[in-house]
Amino acid sequence: MQKLYLDCDGVILDTINMSYKMIKEKGITKREEIDHFYQNLSWQQLIIEAGEINNSITKIKKLMEVFDVEILTHINSDGEILAKLNYFNKVLPGIKVITVPKEIKKADAVDPEGNILVDDYLPNLEYWEERGGIPIKFSDSGKECKYQSITNLLELLELNLKNKSRIK
Ligand SMILES: [Mg+2]
Repeated sequence: MQKLYLDCDGVILDTINMSYKMIKEKGITKREEIDHFYQNLSWQQLIIEAGEINNSITKIKKLMEVFDVEILTHINSDGEILAKLNYFNKVLPGIKVITVPKEIKKADAVDPEGNILVDDYLPNLEYWEERGGIPIKFSDSGKECKYQSITNLLELLELNLKNKSRIK
């Protein structure tokens, strides 16, 4: 089965938009204040408030029939690890969740070679491709991108998922 790594924040859960909204409401602008905000954030609460993006959990269950799905997510704190593990353990029992400290690149935490990463953050995809992986951009706006882009996880079932570096 083709290995498929899914980003969590901004792909499965709407945590990015929700946390930006919270930051805006608090009037925080400085880099250190934002770091502090993320380190002290209740992720348990954020996950509940943010919710799924477009019924992502049901869609992942469908994808799991075709792909070997794992969740590959960056984390800022121990609380964030626990909240994410508890959440996915509940909604997708048995799914592997790989939590990667922010300082480490996703493509250095697992082997990208020939494997798919769906992520909303372009630098993650660029390095993934550099390391021989297949990058897929997730975007809720459907904005143009140099990589194959999807706005709905089920589009993965229709894409031509080839590893460019292998074709060359
Ligand atoms: Mg993300």
